[in-house]
Amino acid sequence: MIPFNLPCIGEREVEYVRQAIANHRLAGNGPFTVRCHEWLQTTTGAAKALLTHSGTAALEMAAMLSAVGPGDEVIMPSFTFVSTANAFVLRGATPVFVDIREDTCNIDETLLESAITPRTKVIVPVHYAGVACDMDAILDVARRHDLLVVEDAAQGLLADYRGRHLGSLGDLAAISFHETKNVVAGEAGALLVNGERWEARAEILWEKGTNRTQFFRGAVDKYTWVDIGSSYLPSEITAAFLCAQLEAAREITERRQHVWRRYHEAFAPLESEGLIRRPMVPTGCAHNAHLYYLLFADLSRRTAAQDALRKAGLDAVFHYVPLHSSPAGRRFGRAFGSLPVTDAVSARLLRLPMWAGLPDDQISKAVQAIAGALESAHAG
Ligand SMILES: *Cc1c(COP(=O)(O)O)cnc(C)c1O
Repeated sequence: MIPFNLPCIGEREVEYVRQAIANHRLAGNGPFTVRCHEWLQTTTGAAKALLTHSGTAALEMAAMLSAVGPGDEVIMPSFTFVSTANAFVLRGATPVFVDIREDTCNIDETLLESAITPRTKVIVPVHYAGVACDMDAILDVARRHDLLVVEDAAQGLLADYRGRHLGSLGDLAAISFHETKNVVAGEAGALLVNGERWEARAEILWEKGTNRTQFFRGAVDKYTWVDIGSSYLPSEITAAFLCAQLEAAREITERRQHVWRRYHEAFAPLESEGLIRRPMVPTGCAHNAHLYYLLFADLSRRTAAQDALRKAGLDAVFHYVPLHSSPAGRRFGRAFGSLPVTDAVSARLLRLPMWAGLPDDQISKAVQAIAGALESAHAG
């Protein structure tokens, strides 16, 4: 079976982990962590990067820094991973789920203004598949209503919006290095901090609510408990592995883009026939080939395509159970009106195998399997 995802791991990962062990410095914030921070800051343009043990943890830190609490509302798509919402629910805030655009599967920026209430504090754009949300529109609404913007850029490494790296546009952002992302460290993530006002507190939350990082820099003569916080640092073993991945990140992304383009060219005829819709990347945005998905006409055609792929030995998976209809989403959040596009996309979307090095003949096999399934659906 051709897997949906296969991490791209080289020799250097092992070499760096060996070095981390030889350094006798296995806790967080050692030399490999510093190298990862530098890479992330240079690459994204964020003022500060802090490695975390997951993208989820970075979102939790962003929620803490946003200082939201009970009664506050946070606008986000329903078409996202649970952590986008959970991070804010842990602070007692209420997610308000807004519908998405059909073309990018990203939050529909034209609905934001009407979803805002006097209790709204934060907007969380999620850059689905590493394709940017309409950040100009989102930042404009946020500015006019004095709201924070926390980008869920979990899928956004090495993707940009009008020349600016995803995660560097809002106040705060989360990136993920989970095994299923383009660049991986098993479980890891990063918080990106864009603005001096957040930097000192971000470090404190990161280090269990202490000013330990300032102490290491020599800024204070002893370290102590100064705020809330938790243990958000990954170990140096994880950072060493990630450091090797980051150094290979551009190459990994290019290899994924090769696969993405192959799919995209091969599926063009089926799109012209009106049988599927291919991913749309807005002009001025560079995506990172995180996912290759197709939108089918309806659930039965998607199921037929998925079955045909499985029979051909290829694993394809759908996305997401919308949060506004999930048990916890209903308990902790609220839907802004009905979310027809979210419901439809969730029933129609299928993600195809996507990884660096996916052989061309498997891509052809996938295209044939889907074309065959759609033909017989048409005939039947
Ligand atoms: C992967 C992902 C997360 C969570 O990241 P983890 O590192 O798995 O905790 C959050 N939001 C989105 C949109 C994601 O894709």
